[in-house]
Amino acid sequence: MGSLERKLARRQTKDAQKQLKKAMSQRVGLFNLLPGYCFGCYKPFDKKDRQHVFTWNVRVYEETEEVKLYCPACYERTAELPTERASE
Ligand SMILES: [Zn+2]
Repeated sequence: MGSLERKLARRQTKDAQKQLKKAMSQRVGLFNLLPGYCFGCYKPFDKKDRQHVFTWNVRVYEETEEVKLYCPACYERTAELPTERASE
């Protein structure tokens, strides 16, 4: 028990990485607009570092053609932020 779940989870991760890679290559043009550092903490981003490419998060704002880059820690923080203030 459990090993199948693990296998599935691994597969999903692989698929996600594949999709991310695809999305990344489709956005090569936008990739050039990458600021080269985390938008939250200004940590430098190394596009030749696979670890960075797979764990950092790129947010593309197509309306404004803005690209913002977040390191995993900062992305987690922004993900926690409510997009709209919950009614208090
Ligand atoms: Zn950061």
